[in-house]
Amino acid sequence: MEKRDLALYIHIPYCVRKCDYCDFLSGPAGSDEQAYYVRVLQKEIRSYETLSSIYKVRTVFFGGGTPSILEDRHITRIVEQLFSSYDIDDNAEISIECNPGTLTVDKLKTYRSLGINRISMGVQSANDDELRCLGRIHTWSEFKENYILARRLGFDNINVDLMSGIPGQTMDSWQETLNRTVELEPDHISAYSLMIEKGTPFYERYSTPEGRRYLPGERDDRLMYHYTKTYLAERGYERYEISNYAKPGFECRHNLVYWRLGDYLGFGLGASSYLDGRRFSNTRDKDEYWESAKSAYQRFRALEKQPEKDTMEEYMFLGLRTMEGVRSSAFEEKFRKSMTDIYGETIDDLSQGGYLTWEDGVLRLTDRGIDVSNRVLSRFLLD
Ligand code: SF4
Repeated sequence: MEKRDLALYIHIPYCVRKCDYCDFLSGPAGSDEQAYYVRVLQKEIRSYETLSSIYKVRTVFFGGGTPSILEDRHITRIVEQLFSSYDIDDNAEISIECNPGTLTVDKLKTYRSLGINRISMGVQSANDDELRCLGRIHTWSEFKENYILARRLGFDNINVDLMSGIPGQTMDSWQETLNRTVELEPDHISAYSLMIEKGTPFYERYSTPEGRRYLPGERDDRLMYHYTKTYLAERGYERYEISNYAKPGFECRHNLVYWRLGDYLGFGLGASSYLDGRRFSNTRDKDEYWESAKSAYQRFRALEKQPEKDTMEEYMFLGLRTMEGVRSSAFEEKFRKSMTDIYGETIDDLSQGGYLTWEDGVLRLTDRGIDVSNRVLSRFLLD
């Protein structure tokens, strides 16, 4: 029997220091806790290893937090555990998120020797004032040094994360960030707008009417977004998802699994999974996680599959984020129902409004639809 495809995500919830805008499950911790966390992760990874008879792993993604904060012996242990517990494709995409200020020659060499073949670097801005405002630990030139080092050591698939909507950011400074990034010729660029999240120092500073004056407005944000698409397209980067751009052949295969509603398994504190029709997340409580990791597979087995209605909604939300869109024949194959029977009225209405295109059986967001994507996608909720 042919094995099914599987993506693995490993969450490393540690960072040198918390950035002022960040509400991810991440923060500083001592080396003893980090070492203990890795041992617990190994237990969780082992608990699912029976899946190796059914699944072939096509992508692995170390995310966080800052995975590159871990000593390289820890990353080695995790990768070795993955290879011993799962059937990993020889051509698997194996990515690691790295933050400037945490990378060294030895770490990069270790990653290469382990088969890690994609680096994702969070720089966010080429403007040091903006980096300070965000509470980042690095400058642009530190990022650039790390980037050049990674290239020199043979990494030929590098993503750079950028952020628009930073307090005080102008169209000029955003253009400068794009120019300086593109000069380095990364293979992939993610460009997200800053979200002001509750519980962060940014929320205190910028959610008040006074604070909001420092943020680029909605109109500027849209201008930056449109400029980004055109500027990057002219330089060979195709937008393949609302916030992601790649040179041909460098689309992130791991993220495509999420957007295509493929099977993925997340390990680590708070990590999410979607496996065999079941959507679930690990606890965000460390003590509980220590206790529960080794019986993770038993808990997964006890879960109910999610209702078909939820799966259909997710299939539309996620698929429409990509420029490949949602193919009606694929919908029909997956659900044994016609997409137009389920969503015909919504599709007609949104197409007439100029938010969607519906060509050759493929549904896609238009640029106008992308500008108000949250509103458009919410129309695919089923009662
Ligand atoms: S480095 Fe990333 S995960 Fe860590 S605190 Fe900053 S934004 Fe959050």
